[in-house]
Amino acid sequence: IKLIGKPERSVVTTCAYCGVGCTFRAEMRGEQLVRMVPWKDGKANHGHSCVKGRFAWGYANHAERITKPMIREKITDPWREVSWDEALTYAATKLNAIRDQHGPGALGGITSSRCTNEETFLVQKLVRAGFGTNNVDTCARVCHSPTGYGLKTTFGTSAGTQDFDSVMFSDVLLVIGANPTDAHPVFGSKMKQRLRQGAKLIVIDPRRIDLVKSPHIEAAYHLPLQPGTNVAVLTALAHVIVTEGLADEDFIRTRCDWDEYQEWADFVSNERHSPEKLEAVTRVPAADLRGAARLFATGGNGAIYYGLGVTEHSQGSSTVMAIANLAMATGNIGRPGVGVNPLRGQNNVQGSCDMGSFPHELPGYRHISDTEVRTQFEEDWGVTLDPEPGLRIPNMLDAALDGTFKGLYIQGEDILQSDPDTRHVAAGLAAMECVIVHDLFLNETANYAHIFLPGSTFLEKTGTFTNAERRIQMVRKVMEPANTDGVKGGYEDWQVTQLLANALGCDWQYTSSAQIMQEIARLTPTFAGVSHHRLDMHGSLQWPVTGEDHLGSPIMHVDAFVRGKGKFMVTEYIPTDERSGPRYPLLLTTGRILSQYNVGAQTRRTANTAWHPEDRLEIHPTDAENRGLKDGDWVKLASRAGETTLRALVTDRVAPGVVYTTFHHPDTQANVVTTDFSDWATNCPEYKVTAVQVTPSHAP
Ligand code: SF4
Repeated sequence: IKLIGKPERSVVTTCAYCGVGCTFRAEMRGEQLVRMVPWKDGKANHGHSCVKGRFAWGYANHAERITKPMIREKITDPWREVSWDEALTYAATKLNAIRDQHGPGALGGITSSRCTNEETFLVQKLVRAGFGTNNVDTCARVCHSPTGYGLKTTFGTSAGTQDFDSVMFSDVLLVIGANPTDAHPVFGSKMKQRLRQGAKLIVIDPRRIDLVKSPHIEAAYHLPLQPGTNVAVLTALAHVIVTEGLADEDFIRTRCDWDEYQEWADFVSNERHSPEKLEAVTRVPAADLRGAARLFATGGNGAIYYGLGVTEHSQGSSTVMAIANLAMATGNIGRPGVGVNPLRGQNNVQGSCDMGSFPHELPGYRHISDTEVRTQFEEDWGVTLDPEPGLRIPNMLDAALDGTFKGLYIQGEDILQSDPDTRHVAAGLAAMECVIVHDLFLNETANYAHIFLPGSTFLEKTGTFTNAERRIQMVRKVMEPANTDGVKGGYEDWQVTQLLANALGCDWQYTSSAQIMQEIARLTPTFAGVSHHRLDMHGSLQWPVTGEDHLGSPIMHVDAFVRGKGKFMVTEYIPTDERSGPRYPLLLTTGRILSQYNVGAQTRRTANTAWHPEDRLEIHPTDAENRGLKDGDWVKLASRAGETTLRALVTDRVAPGVVYTTFHHPDTQANVVTTDFSDWATNCPEYKVTAVQVTPSHAP
């Protein structure tokens, strides 16, 4: 790290990487950012940070950043730099022509979980009120949409139940399908702190993540399940709890629907759901399943933390509901130290979902078919809204291939790299007449774009992010946006969306993101008491914030569930259609590493790349030996969907029969091999189970 000079001023802002939401003092010298210092008063991080937030901000000035608008007639044409006026007029002409000829349903938009709440709110408003359709979706489609479905169904709201500090009151931590020390490092450290104080740990993960064993920490149980069998494992745990009389019936009688509980209890008690019967499916020893269930039910305050290893499955929504069942059955809801806590991936994925980014929900998770709610928005916006849910991302791509979907506005999202079945995504994009990418870099999706609108980084804007504990925090402008055409510009992303809306014929007159937040608060009961002024005053607020004198809700469902009575849901284990066999005998699962972030668009353009210069394939020594592979050898990773080449990392962190890789580098393109199977309720792709073969290869 090269210090540029002594800082002259500092601005407190929020990290734009993961869902922990650490706050920093951005120290400036003139217009140059000197360093990011974790802020001791940050409510989510208490002065801590990881190597991403602390060091990986140099991408903001990277030479590859695009700062001028660009257009081209065909995707095979070279890009042409144009003024903001020309780019926006060109975009509006194309979008209006599509709408006139094919109707509003031929258009759609994708919001960004990297952008602020205010920016996301405006994109969904543009699609609904400007385009005239509900074809709006978000990257949560490919990560935590099952959390939205599962927790809304069982508890009544689509969010985690606890604040991070609650973990300090936990006696047993159950971590399933999450790798907090790599993906949510600051919270991972807090977990370790509690574990070192004596809390017990149960890890359910096909891979031996760092948390399983580290200095002074050893999991009481690591259940290395076969990928794709989460529901079977959770059903086996529930079987033990119910049949051994360990359920908290007092809690269930007062807080949940008793009849639904009995139906669920009858289901899980069936002998076919015993650990001994499910051992062959899950590959977890029955004795460990029994021991883990007893520990969770009798060990005191039990808290469940989960990640994409839960949601990115064909049974993602069922797994979330099975987790909720387990928490309710053991009375672990509504007080410090317990709860169900999805570890949200991106800095503002919680916020993008809260702000109405789903095709069936208006901001605040209210269904578009609810006439009373819709009328409120219609009166405020002066438009008529379509009462029917719109298309999800995969459906937009299908419709493009059918010729009925023609124009897409994508803000801050690289769907070609992040969505499953890359060839399908590419074909869908190529079939569209107008693809607008609004981003920092010419990402992979931009290869299929006709219009590129340069975006602004988190250092160049003011607004709010909402972290995994529903904490709304200010993002404050540190420097002016770089995206000027020389005459106009220096625009925050919400300003670009407003310009596009007005070019289409809307009449939006927002003068600040604070004004957008006033509209959000007016239309969204869970944000009723949120304003930039109050956030400046209090540092942060955790929704629901019901009014201007309300200080927010660190813990939810304290006296009653948001939906009234907690709802037990029967979740039958159904094996995925993705099966291993003689041709593809191994199961691939994917994940993240500490120094890189998601598809790497930012971190790969910083010095952090030195820590993780390539994606490697973890393979068990036995599987490696059977293929004549040594550590570092090049291998071909092939599935029914496609193939890629990368180097092997021989390790017993993965079990025999399982391989694992990260997806941070575009040259690896791990999603070339993933399938198009998806969650039954939400279409969240099944990234975590792909049948593959691994064979020796050579450098590409
Ligand atoms: Fe904190 Fe996450 Fe940013 Fe790391 S990446 S500094 S843990 S918010």
